[in-house]
Amino acid sequence: MKNNDFNPADNIQDLQYFGEFGGVNPSISDSSTYTFLSAKTMFDTFEGNMEGCYLYSRHSSPSNLYLDQALAAMEGTEAANVSASGMGAITPTLLQLCGAGDHIVSSRTIYGGTYAFLKNFTPRLGIETTFVDITKLEVVEAAITTKTKVLYCETVSNPLLEVADIAGLSAIAKKHNLTLVVDNTFSPLSVSPARLGADIVIHSLTKYINGSSDTVGGVTCASREFINSLKNVNTGASMLLGPTMDSLRSASVMKNLRTLHIRMKQHSYNAQYLAERFEKEGLKTVYPGLASHPSHQLYKNMINPEYGFGGMMTIDVGNLATANALMELMQERNLGYLAVSLGFYKTLFSAPGTSTSSEIPLEEQAEMGLTDGLIRFSIGLDNDIERTYQSMKKCMQELNVL
Ligand SMILES: *Cc1c(COP(=O)(O)O)cnc(C)c1O
Repeated sequence: MKNNDFNPADNIQDLQYFGEFGGVNPSISDSSTYTFLSAKTMFDTFEGNMEGCYLYSRHSSPSNLYLDQALAAMEGTEAANVSASGMGAITPTLLQLCGAGDHIVSSRTIYGGTYAFLKNFTPRLGIETTFVDITKLEVVEAAITTKTKVLYCETVSNPLLEVADIAGLSAIAKKHNLTLVVDNTFSPLSVSPARLGADIVIHSLTKYINGSSDTVGGVTCASREFINSLKNVNTGASMLLGPTMDSLRSASVMKNLRTLHIRMKQHSYNAQYLAERFEKEGLKTVYPGLASHPSHQLYKNMINPEYGFGGMMTIDVGNLATANALMELMQERNLGYLAVSLGFYKTLFSAPGTSTSSEIPLEEQAEMGLTDGLIRFSIGLDNDIERTYQSMKKCMQELNVL
């Protein structure tokens, strides 16, 4: 499945966009609406028959199209559509694919907001979801009914870092004529789900891709046909629900995207370094780059190796009180911030059971192994990771974690 000629960072680098006056960055489109030289062209554009004409910025704008193209190139899909947030990409995508009476089979370990949408919101619209252990392909297949339309998962799940066998899931999706939707937020560049058979790839740009924790954003990468359907003026969920990214923002995300490959390598290097040492110290450490990770070999076969196993890891310190004390101490020592989200230059940590996954009921958290002593780390871009390791170790020793 993997194609060695495909390098997502090279694909981005090969895209050149100049500004109006020869600027090295593209001009930012600062307009919500666009003039037409003839009334006929306006009509044709509304009918969807005019390429290269802009209608209204909820539909598309030049700045958003640059970012669309770059992200489609990164994922190796025909097209993409950026949105105002990750949830602003996920929800219209699922609503475009499913209507009343339809059924979704989803991984049970997914982002809390997505879980809440599928568990609490879509049933109001007559869309039901069965949540499964995505690592067990036979369980996934057994959950499929005649009403199933979508198979949904995250490449690396939040927060338990379970790895989805995308090629295996794609084979199941093809067999049952389902659309495989993969949220690749945790593993940009490292994994290229569309190359492994995913039909639609989604990102929260808020995290690694923008990388500076200054905005929310999202994208859906898919076939030209599906992206056009999302933006259709009469029937498109993105067009009609309206989660449009602002042009000023898409221009700034585009500039940050230019350094994503360098950042991902450093995030992965630092996380691998800390995970190996924490594990050696006897801490219960989960990181896909460790041989002890249940999906290590699977993940190794899926990744574009130069970008590594990503920047996300978890440790389990036994109970919530210790987890909270450790996070507060590490923040006090300037080792990172006690904050949700990920992909920042600074290390971020949180206790998922009481924060990002608090939408998941406690008994379900326990069943999926989401213990309350769990700390989720998004490892930052620290220049000297050995120095960081020594300081973190000292915090752990002071709190008798080590
Ligand atoms: C943050 C996140 C989302 C939601 O993205 P927003 O930009 O916050 O709307 C979706 N999926 C994953 C895996 C995330 O981490």
